[in-house]
Amino acid sequence: MTNAHERASAAYQRSFGRDHAQAARAPGRVNLIGEHIDYCGGHVLPMAIDRDCVAVGGVHGERVRVYAADLHEWLECDPGELHDANRFEGWRAYAAGVLAFTFEAMRERPRGFEIVIASDVPLGAGLSSSAAFEVSLTTLLAGLMGQSLDAWEVARLCRRAEHEYARVPCGIMDQAIAAMARRGHAMLLDCETERVVGHMPMPSGDDVSLLVVDTRVRHAHSGGEYAARRAACEAAARALGEKNLCEARLAHLDALTQEWRAIARHVVSENQRTLAAAEAMKAGDWSGLGRLMNESHDSLRDDYRVSCAELDTVVDAARAAPGVWGARMTGGGFGGCAIVFAPAVAMPEIRERVTREFRARFARDCGTLYAHASAGAALIS
Ligand code: ADP
Ligand code: MG
Repeated sequence: MTNAHERASAAYQRSFGRDHAQAARAPGRVNLIGEHIDYCGGHVLPMAIDRDCVAVGGVHGERVRVYAADLHEWLECDPGELHDANRFEGWRAYAAGVLAFTFEAMRERPRGFEIVIASDVPLGAGLSSSAAFEVSLTTLLAGLMGQSLDAWEVARLCRRAEHEYARVPCGIMDQAIAAMARRGHAMLLDCETERVVGHMPMPSGDDVSLLVVDTRVRHAHSGGEYAARRAACEAAARALGEKNLCEARLAHLDALTQEWRAIARHVVSENQRTLAAAEAMKAGDWSGLGRLMNESHDSLRDDYRVSCAELDTVVDAARAAPGVWGARMTGGGFGGCAIVFAPAVAMPEIRERVTREFRARFARDCGTLYAHASAGAALIS
């Protein structure tokens, strides 16, 4: 049993005085490459990590009762109130939106439930705790109702909950990888056609090859910067006469203002790098993949301007360590996490060095964890 599973089970027993009927898990993720282009119709290459959000529950009573064990907070309402997106705030908005849209997808009227959720994905760190939360909850509900929903339908309804209830204008990547990841693989996703292009193998065996470094700088994406970048991408695409900015040609970007040109240069080149990265993975060319990850970070730092001193410090320290294939920020940026890709044998020294240099610069510790490519959401038997 994972830590989150144990905590959710124990909290359920404590709260409701019985065992839960079903349990479901969904993983957090890192994005290997393809950053800030999911909403521009680009390709992304996320990998689910072995950190889960776990939802446990049963069908009981007339009320909806959801306990967020990590926050020690309850959501309680009548099933009929779930359709009103304006009633809910914070984590309750994610839960209510997912509940409402899952019932809609199952063509069932909302009814009473008892649910507990606990997560081993750190909240708000850029490892997609929100999608893990949403997808685990949908998977649990479908399980409790004896239904099986299509994985894409799950991803879309969870994204819709995040848009309409939590009011975060996210792309489809996080929900798609949480729903569809394959163990031992990263997933190449075409965000324009919403299609899985393929599952790309990570280095085989139990070797650790990915270090996640959490700067512990937290930034809410519902805030200004994410929306501002997204709006700039849409404006630049319009100016270029493209539906999606990813389809623009690098040679045509000169028509844009200096600010939009840099934004567009990141988007177009990042899409190309992501496709090249998938090819490198197919060929087992890990240093090639690492090089592309490095270029991705530099582009996010210099052109898209979503990095920060803490992320740059981690990336610089990692790249200076012997044996490193590549290092970059992952997720939305402005804090959150960086990933370091290297052979397992090199990892302890890299971890040591990154931790030391981070402490020397910021007088506090960063968090570190090793990540393995994990599978997408499922009921836990
Ligand atoms: P990220 O997805 O990168 O972790 P977000 O800001 O997108 O960051 O999502 C974090 C939010 O998702 C939290 O503030 C909370 O509202 C919700 N959330 C995620 N996991 C949980 C959980 N285990 N319990 C309650 N709420 C959660
Ligand atoms: Mg999120």
